[in-house]
Amino acid sequence: MDLASLYRRALAFDALTAEEGVFLYENAPLPMLMYVANELRKVQVPHGKVTWIIDRNMNTTNVCVANCKFCNFYRIPGHPEAYITDLPTYRRKIEETFRYGGEQLLLQGGHHPELGLDYYANLFKELKNEFPDLKLHALGPPEIAHICRVSGVTPKEALQTLKAAGMDSMPGPGAEILDDRVRRLISKGKCGAQEWLDIMHEAHKLGLTTSATMMFGHVETIQERFEHLVKLRDVQARKPDTSKGFVAFIPWTFQDVDTLLQRIRGTKNLTTSAEYIRMIALSRIMLPNVKNIQASWLTVGKKTAQLCLHAGANDFGSIMIEENVVSAAGAPHRFTAQGIQEAIREAGFEPQLRNQQYEFRKLPERMEEQVITY
Ligand code: SF4
Repeated sequence: MDLASLYRRALAFDALTAEEGVFLYENAPLPMLMYVANELRKVQVPHGKVTWIIDRNMNTTNVCVANCKFCNFYRIPGHPEAYITDLPTYRRKIEETFRYGGEQLLLQGGHHPELGLDYYANLFKELKNEFPDLKLHALGPPEIAHICRVSGVTPKEALQTLKAAGMDSMPGPGAEILDDRVRRLISKGKCGAQEWLDIMHEAHKLGLTTSATMMFGHVETIQERFEHLVKLRDVQARKPDTSKGFVAFIPWTFQDVDTLLQRIRGTKNLTTSAEYIRMIALSRIMLPNVKNIQASWLTVGKKTAQLCLHAGANDFGSIMIEENVVSAAGAPHRFTAQGIQEAIREAGFEPQLRNQQYEFRKLPERMEEQVITY
C-alpha cells in the first residue's frame, strides 16, 4: 500500500477497503486528507453551499430497557421521572417549531416495554391529521427492532405500517459502531449490527430516506471504525435505484460526562479536533456513494465543525430546538438560526436552509428567533 496510489483511487471514487482506510488514517498527513475529501465534495455537491435544517428533536418516551452504557437520558420503567409524551405537549412543541421556521420533528425515544406498533402508528396518524404539513423524521433501527419484538411483526411490516401512518424518513441512531464486540460492551440491549443494517435496507426498499451515523471514540478499534464505514457503503450499494437510501452520514464523538461507560470502565472521550476532522475527511473518502457528510457541531463545537467544511463535510445539521440525549452526556454547544448561518459564512461558505430530503428551502419570511433557555 502506498499513499499516492490511495489518493489517486480515492479521487477516482474507488471503494477503498477497511484496511486501506486504516492505512490512510494512520499514515496520511491531515492536510492531504482534507484536500482529497474537499475535491470529492466539490464533485458530489457541486452547488458548493453548506446546508442546514431547522428541526425539533422530541422524545416519545424516556422509558427504556436497553440500558446503554453511554446514555444518561433513559429511565427504567416505574422510575418517578419516567414519562410518555402526551398529545398536548406534542401540539405545543409542534406549533412552536413552526413559529421558529421548522417543519419537522426528529422523533425518537427509549425502548418502552409496552409501546408497540399500534402505539406509534396511532401517534403518527394523530400528528399528521392535526398537522398535515409536519414532517416526521422518526425512530431508528433499534426502535424498529424493539417494536417488532413487542408486537410480533417483521421489520418490513413495521416500516410499511409506520410509513402509511405518516413517517416520512428515518434517522440513523443506535449505529454506534456496527460491530457486535463493541455493541456487547456498550449497548447490548440494542439490536445487533446486522439487524441495524438489515432494517436500513428494508427501509430503502420501501423508499424511505434514511441517514447513517457513527458514534466513535469509546471502546472501538480503528479497524472497527473503518469496517463500520464499509458496511454502510455496502448497504447503500444495494438500495433500489428509485430510493435515495442513506441521504447523509453523520459521525459524532462519544460524550462521556457521568455515563456508566466512564464511571465503570473509565472510558473517556479523548477525540481531539484533529482526529474528528480526520474522520470527517475519511468518511467522505470511504463513502463515495453517500452524498452528504454532516459535521456534528453539537458534539465538537463551532470551530472544529467549521474546519470540517474544508475537509469534505457539506452540511452543518440542525439548530436543534430541543435536544435531550447527547446533551445529557455533556455536549455543551448551541446554535440559533442566525448563529448557524453566521458560522457557515465565517467558514467561507454560503448557508442554505434545506429539508430532510436535502432539497433547498427558502428562509421562512416570519421566523421567530429561538430563545435558548437550557
Ligand atoms: S441510547 Fe436509546 S436505546 Fe440506549 S439506553 Fe438510551 S434511550 Fe435507551
